[in-house]
Amino acid sequence: MSDHASMGGHHDFREVTIVPDDPESQAARASRRRMLNLLLTGGAAAMLPAAARAVAHPCSTAENPLNWAVAWKQTAAEFHALCYQAFNIATLQLDRALAGQSDGDKPLAVITDMDDTILHANDYWALLIERHRDFFDDGMWDEWIPKNRVTAVPGALEFCHYCVARDVAVFYVTNRDQGSDTRAYARGHLRHLGFPLPVEERLIVFSDTSDKSAAREAIAARYRVPFLIGDNLNDYKRDYYVADVAERLNVMERDRDDYGHRFIVLPNPTDGHWVRAIFGESEPAPTDENRRRLRGAAMGIRPGQ
Ligand SMILES: [Mg+2]
Repeated sequence: MSDHASMGGHHDFREVTIVPDDPESQAARASRRRMLNLLLTGGAAAMLPAAARAVAHPCSTAENPLNWAVAWKQTAAEFHALCYQAFNIATLQLDRALAGQSDGDKPLAVITDMDDTILHANDYWALLIERHRDFFDDGMWDEWIPKNRVTAVPGALEFCHYCVARDVAVFYVTNRDQGSDTRAYARGHLRHLGFPLPVEERLIVFSDTSDKSAAREAIAARYRVPFLIGDNLNDYKRDYYVADVAERLNVMERDRDDYGHRFIVLPNPTDGHWVRAIFGESEPAPTDENRRRLRGAAMGIRPGQ
């Protein structure tokens, strides 16, 4: 979600559809198989309809690779604990920064990403699985956003109010693109969950780029920013925007001492630029080639090897 604004476009979903396992679908599958046999024995394979082609791409509901990551997001106490850990560290670092403020210093500000940093979209990921999708679906995301089904990331609400109570400015910086309503939806999510509503300038939306550098620089010119909060390394600096797994790891290693200090990370196992490093794009098309690539990544095979 961190980079959905940079993508866009619509995929061809003929190959995406995962054959579901419910009885009705089993019957439909059997029917397709009969039809396929009929067509093949009749020598009419070239005329296969889309429904029959789906048989050539078996990927049962139980095999959806999203199941593990989304089950973790939906149920794991460890996932929630990691979120609390991030905001506990943020609170600690904020207290340090407040204690270190002197007269004449620039006022303090915190910069936070929104999706998967202070807002969770588990309902969206569940919907993808329910609809037998195994890759992020931009069209479904845009339909889902206005429904206000986001939830607050554990610890995020308390942390943002903690900042505001101490006169620390909170800047929400996000990449989203739902057209002319993008800002209204983003603001609606914050309002819906009870986040301290920003003055207009403190909600910064990038709709045509995932590069947040301009916002970071503009805020740092007026405020002292002790740390940045995000689920994507791109939320901290653009150096991490490299579409190569090994190089991205190397750049992160270079900054390893910054984590928990200048950079506070939230866990996100479903999307982000780590996906881009594997596939070369943040929202890879749901093709069998990409499914093979995902399997290769899981086995430790880096793209290009
Ligand atoms: Mg994010």
